[in-house]
Amino acid sequence: MSVRQALVRRGAAAVAVAAACGAVSTMAPGLAAGKLDLAAGRHGAPQQAQLLGAQRGPAAAPPRKINCAKVKCIALTFDDGPVSGTDKLLKILAKRHVRATFFLVGQNAKAHPDLVRKELAAGHEVGNHSYTHADLTRLSSAGIKSEITKTQTAIRKASGFTPHLLRPPYGSTNSRVAAVTKRLGMPQIIWAVDPLDWRDRNSATVERRVIKAARPGYIVLMHDIHPTTVNAVPTILSRLAAKGYVFVTVSELFGRPLKPGKTYAHR
Ligand SMILES: [Zn+2]
Repeated sequence: MSVRQALVRRGAAAVAVAAACGAVSTMAPGLAAGKLDLAAGRHGAPQQAQLLGAQRGPAAAPPRKINCAKVKCIALTFDDGPVSGTDKLLKILAKRHVRATFFLVGQNAKAHPDLVRKELAAGHEVGNHSYTHADLTRLSSAGIKSEITKTQTAIRKASGFTPHLLRPPYGSTNSRVAAVTKRLGMPQIIWAVDPLDWRDRNSATVERRVIKAARPGYIVLMHDIHPTTVNAVPTILSRLAAKGYVFVTVSELFGRPLKPGKTYAHR
């Protein structure tokens, strides 16, 4: 088989993965699937890098076209993994056909490449959360760049996918971080809801805070490294779905290209 034929074959496999992940992440009663345009999305053609990466794992599913100006969208995000407990969360999300966004710490991605591939194969979005969970505002421009690019490399080596989004650790950013991320072509994604799940390791508390603070278009911060948070997710999904929310990835929430260097907390 020629290299070109191999690429085409892998491309077909990537499209099949995307189609398999095309089910809408909603349990919202009365939300007709017909209202949502489930076309392959603006990134319909998998990029060459993703095709090459398919040797090691599935390409990332393209964002679904969901009009979050009309649909009650919310983006759940999980930081600091992947860790062994991430697998349990992936099962919870898969059971309910929910897509989320995972912001990975590079050294954890390197340690758990199988989980990076699983996240992408399930249709979740994967973003960059630095290599060592450093406060980027305390680093030089070169240091910031190193934290980000080492993580891009770890995720690409694990899965063939290179993230587009950065979440600065602690949501800590400044003009220097903005300048570096602008040069690297990455928007900064922070959040509108923080249940402080890292501090209060109590599932009921996390559930209550997320459900109370949720609004359409919001990005919710959680951490899949804490079992108490993972255990809060089923109730969060059920309660928000009952209120009509549709669970989308960060890219789906915005549905348009985001500006590199700029900070986003909600739609
Ligand atoms: Zn973090």
